[in-house]
Amino acid sequence: MLKIAFYGKGGIGKSTTASNVSAALSEMGVKVCQIGCDPKNDSTRLVLGKICKGTVLDAVRNSDDGSVTLEEIVHYGYNHIKCIEAGGPEPGVGCAGRGIIVALERLNALHANEDDELILYDVLGDVVCGGFAVPIREGYADVIYIITSGEMMSLYAANNIAKGIKRFAQRGKVRLGGLIGNSRNTPKEKELLEAFAKKLNTKLVAFIPRNQIVQKAEIQRQTVIQYAPDSHQAQVYRELAKCVLDNKELTIPTTMTFEELEAFMAEMGIEDK
Ligand code: ATP
Ligand code: MG
Repeated sequence: MLKIAFYGKGGIGKSTTASNVSAALSEMGVKVCQIGCDPKNDSTRLVLGKICKGTVLDAVRNSDDGSVTLEEIVHYGYNHIKCIEAGGPEPGVGCAGRGIIVALERLNALHANEDDELILYDVLGDVVCGGFAVPIREGYADVIYIITSGEMMSLYAANNIAKGIKRFAQRGKVRLGGLIGNSRNTPKEKELLEAFAKKLNTKLVAFIPRNQIVQKAEIQRQTVIQYAPDSHQAQVYRELAKCVLDNKELTIPTTMTFEELEAFMAEMGIEDK
């Protein structure tokens, strides 16, 4: 069983990319399970065609004795993709990171993923809180992909995530699988991301164009794979899915200081008109 996780700055496109990769994998006949590790529980919306109502933490809360069944928390979407949302505390109360820990432990105890060929964890934000580092730290995910654009703060978050992976890779089996570029149409973006990947001892495994078709599909609560299967964008997601399946170049990342990152951006001539 291949266990991967997508990390990246808030709003960078983790859930959209994860859902499209899940859809592409399902077309290839892979039994995939997407697990949203985000209290917003919106990771699987495009696969399910709706916001998931039965999260793991909802089920725990609604049960008198804390017991939960798989039927309550496992949902099936497009092409029979298995979807699970960890869920979280009510907005403004409680610790979301702690919630992720509880939810993932519960999935383990229920053997929720025994029949899956690939698990894709879609994890909120960068590794600032121990809870969100759990998929990296506790052996849930073996291969991490970092989603980033060419924007400085996105690279900053990517570098911080790489620091977290590095720490746990040195004593465990977790590895960095590569960077996934999700374009924001910044200057020299692909070139910059390829060079940045080298700095992190990894490679750019995909460069996803910014395209309105993603939003059009989103309004219809669909992945691009479902909404526009013949589009170039759908093909890009399929190629990323293949790459994720075949990737053998897994590394322990190297990281940069913030000053090195600033110098790198300057060297790349980003400020040039
Ligand atoms: P969060 O950190 O809040 O979980 P996220 O990283 O999961 O956010 P998404 O929700 O996937 O980000 O995407 C944010 C927005 O960016 C969405 O409205 C989505 O449609 C849009 N988006 C993502 N990728 C692309 C793309 N390649 N082209 C155009 N729009 C995109
Ligand atoms: Mg998300």
